[in-house]
Amino acid sequence: MSTEAANPLSGDWYLEQETFGYVQGAHVRQRLARAQTSFQAIELIDTDLFGRCLILDGALQTTEWDEFMYHEMLVHVPLFTHPNPRNILIIGGGDGGTLRRVLEHPATQPVQVEIDPAVIDQCRKYIPAISNGAFSDPRAKVVIGDGFEFIRNRPAAFDVILVDSTDPVGPAVPLFEEPFYRDVSQALTDDGLLAAQSNSPIYMASQLKAQLSNLRAVFPIVRTYIGLVPTYPGGVWSFTIASKRHDPTRLSLDDLSARVASAGLTTRYYTPQIHQAAFVLPPFIAELVGSD
Ligand code: SAM
Repeated sequence: MSTEAANPLSGDWYLEQETFGYVQGAHVRQRLARAQTSFQAIELIDTDLFGRCLILDGALQTTEWDEFMYHEMLVHVPLFTHPNPRNILIIGGGDGGTLRRVLEHPATQPVQVEIDPAVIDQCRKYIPAISNGAFSDPRAKVVIGDGFEFIRNRPAAFDVILVDSTDPVGPAVPLFEEPFYRDVSQALTDDGLLAAQSNSPIYMASQLKAQLSNLRAVFPIVRTYIGLVPTYPGGVWSFTIASKRHDPTRLSLDDLSARVASAGLTTRYYTPQIHQAAFVLPPFIAELVGSD
């Protein structure tokens, strides 16, 4: 037996330090592309287990294998919470997975604001399976710009705003702070709501707490839910809905099932039952999240 076969860590590995003392990794089949933009370092790799992956500034963003788990939960939970979601704003989300799931709701008119055009270009080129044609859909409008600037002084026009940003580092930092949430509230209609990825409740507990306190300073209803994303650190990811009127935890199974049936979409993670279950938090996360 060769030394290489005997050593499980031989060959090319993508390794990511999640926190001091813990590293997560995947065996790389091929390094596809690498670019440095004025916003971030972009890498595309192909891996044995997870297929093609997008990495920004050394942090894994999405993989072909489990992107549906993250995107279905970020999009379908808020869009089925709102009774009539039409005008949708996506901030970030350059891989296109969020836009694709929004377009699956037949009545939506999505606008996406992504700061870095190279993320869209590279993902369309190297991981087209994630956007699955969404960027060419005539209903989708894509704006290149900073979501923080875009939202400032917007009239109340959006039913749902989705923040699919990188973690709170670099250009995404303002997207987790109170001034941004005030602008979001102003840009939402009277019964509008925001949904945002809210980091790992395990490895990024302090960031989650700070984000929730900023959201609670602006919105009357703030509800955190969790989903499985195996390639994210810890495998459990949190999302938060901040809402003016509709409470995602107050929908009956019958109402949710009727909404899902009339949208007629196919899902691999989201179901009405998962929607309800996702808000039931284990005590250690419930304690971290607190209440309104
Ligand atoms: N699912 C991912 C996660 O949670 O790890 C997020 C993926 S998506 C690729 C994140 C996108 O947010 C990136 O393409 C990045 O360029 C974009 N972004 C970061 N800050 C932004 C800002 N201020 N305005 C608009 N887009 C931003």
